[in-house]
Amino acid sequence: MSSWNVGVFASIDAGLGVQLEVVRDLGIKTIQLHTPSKTSRTAKHAEEFNAKLSAYGITISTVFLGFEGESYESIKITSETVGFVPKATRASRLAEAFQIADFAKLLNVDAIGSHIGFVPHDKTSADYTDVVSTIRQLCEHLKQNGQTLHLETGQEEVTALRDFIGDVGTGNLFVNFDPANLILYGIGNPIGALKTIGQWVRGVHCKDAVATTGVPGVDWGAEVPFGKGQVDAELFLQTLKEVGYTGPLTIEREIPEDPLRQKEEIGQAIELINGIISKL
Ligand code: MG
Repeated sequence: MSSWNVGVFASIDAGLGVQLEVVRDLGIKTIQLHTPSKTSRTAKHAEEFNAKLSAYGITISTVFLGFEGESYESIKITSETVGFVPKATRASRLAEAFQIADFAKLLNVDAIGSHIGFVPHDKTSADYTDVVSTIRQLCEHLKQNGQTLHLETGQEEVTALRDFIGDVGTGNLFVNFDPANLILYGIGNPIGALKTIGQWVRGVHCKDAVATTGVPGVDWGAEVPFGKGQVDAELFLQTLKEVGYTGPLTIEREIPEDPLRQKEEIGQAIELINGIISKL
């Protein structure tokens, strides 16, 4: 039997994830939170959020960065708009990430999650060096806050992520492992990847997907409820146990257009995960 807590990806006022009331209704006690909107990021709002969270008995394990202009419409658009890789917004997003991290500190959160984007493959390029330097600056800021940074998997091979973590070299850079993303982006088998990157994993998304029938890496696969796709939920949790992961199991199900189905499918995922945990 494991001591894992089942969590869910949520939002307070905007962005990805389910609303706090849904979290409460599902009996979930730990969440990852999508970045609250700009106008919400004040000390007064932090106090109000903290009061609400404590009334619901919910704690936040991670605040995920999110920026205006990001779009996951296609893999190509994702590479052009998401995270710190697009050059035009790199500096302004770094400044905003500092603010989000400081706001997360007011929520007593010691981990920041991020899709940094598609890291440039040519390690000798000026662009690669600049992305490394940007993330190093972010990590140094987080260190002053007593926070770690968790890179979301999916947009590159985990071996590239591992090398990138080494190149940043700040000691507070880790991984949020999302097995479905590896399938969605056409990177390959999530279980093998988890074994490779296991010692850096400090957060996970319980999310599932089926691979594209088109061109891997060009066409999206399809996100499906956890346990219904190609992740192999049981083997995923078994492997998390083997690599020594002890953090929350955060369910991610992004179908904001259908909140009722979203809640139902998260409920089913909770049952599935608890059933697997009881056997491990
Ligand atoms: Mg994810």
